[in-house]
Amino acid sequence: MKRKTKLIHGGIPGDEATGAVSVPIYQVSTYKQDAVGVHKGYEYSRTGNPTRFALEELVKDLEEGTRGFAFGSGMAAVTAVMMLFSAGDHVILTDDVYGGTYRVITKVLNRIGIEATFVDTTNLEEVKGAIRENTKALYIETPTNPLLKVTDLKASAALAKEHNLLLVVDNTFSTPYWQTPITHGADIVLHSATKYLGGHSDVVAGIVVVQGEALAEELHFVQNSTGGVLGPQDSWLLIRGIKTLGLRMEAHEANTKKIVDFLSNHPAVGKIHYPGLASHPQHELAKTQAGGFGGMVSFDVGSKEKAESVLQQVKYFTLAESLGAVESLISLPAQMTHASIPADRRQELGITDGLVRISVGIEDAEDLIEDLKQALEA
Ligand SMILES: *Cc1c(COP(=O)(O)O)cnc(C)c1O
Repeated sequence: MKRKTKLIHGGIPGDEATGAVSVPIYQVSTYKQDAVGVHKGYEYSRTGNPTRFALEELVKDLEEGTRGFAFGSGMAAVTAVMMLFSAGDHVILTDDVYGGTYRVITKVLNRIGIEATFVDTTNLEEVKGAIRENTKALYIETPTNPLLKVTDLKASAALAKEHNLLLVVDNTFSTPYWQTPITHGADIVLHSATKYLGGHSDVVAGIVVVQGEALAEELHFVQNSTGGVLGPQDSWLLIRGIKTLGLRMEAHEANTKKIVDFLSNHPAVGKIHYPGLASHPQHELAKTQAGGFGGMVSFDVGSKEKAESVLQQVKYFTLAESLGAVESLISLPAQMTHASIPADRRQELGITDGLVRISVGIEDAEDLIEDLKQALEA
């Protein structure tokens, strides 16, 4: 099955019992047993729900793993994966990992003894240098937020295997439409499905897909024990969103290319971070491991004042956190998503005060470009 077909026909399409072509919303908590322990595969909806299962089967197929799991948010998904580890275990993470992931690792999971080191995972020597005797996992995001740094999936998988580490990949920015980390050797893929998978800014959800039966069993045990599951309504919304993932990702891609072209030729724009640019440090690598470069771009307009003025002037770009939906969004990482990082550390990472981040939507590119032009020139 090719990619767009899989989005429609992957998982469990429709309802066998009635022929309904859309999976029904099984708004139910418990299931009748014919005798003690004799049932049709469902006992209680924390453990398993047919609508959630249809979604879990679908994302499993998309990410080419063994089993999928749906959670109440991306952070619940991240936390469930971290619950595979125990006190005294050590994890290595991408240094510009999503802020919420940084927070749960350094302010919550540290309390139960899970140790972490943050390194630039685009440099495998740094990763190697951080491996200890108790290291259990390498956790990467590629591309990252907001600098769109790209980490080598195959090389990371090889290093992880050599040192007996699990390779965990947050695939939120690329989606399985462009990038399937398990096919490059990853053990676990996770998503904030709130972003591109849902795609319409109307649901908060998380996804985990694992490779191998042993991990599938362990993660199901964690999901059922800790209980951060996705409800049936939101599972249904995600299934619906995923049907158009291919159309949306192609549209995001085409619009982003046009916008990056425009930005590259505008005198008010300095450095542009986008893996599709030949000048991006990992452009060649990005081409080999992903089918598209995605719809996220960040660019420097020189100062905090200029950046704030651009944000004030735009009319089609909504000033908001989040990303990956049909509408274009704009934000200032230094003051919004990355405000909790100390100023000198932000400078070190390259998250300057004049850095503007956009999530390119699927509106007409001409309107988006005209909007950015008037905002940059106001
Ligand atoms: C948003 C996001 C998360 C967290 O997901 P929520 O659905 O907001 O809990 C994790 N990773 C990345 C890359 C994200 O963008």
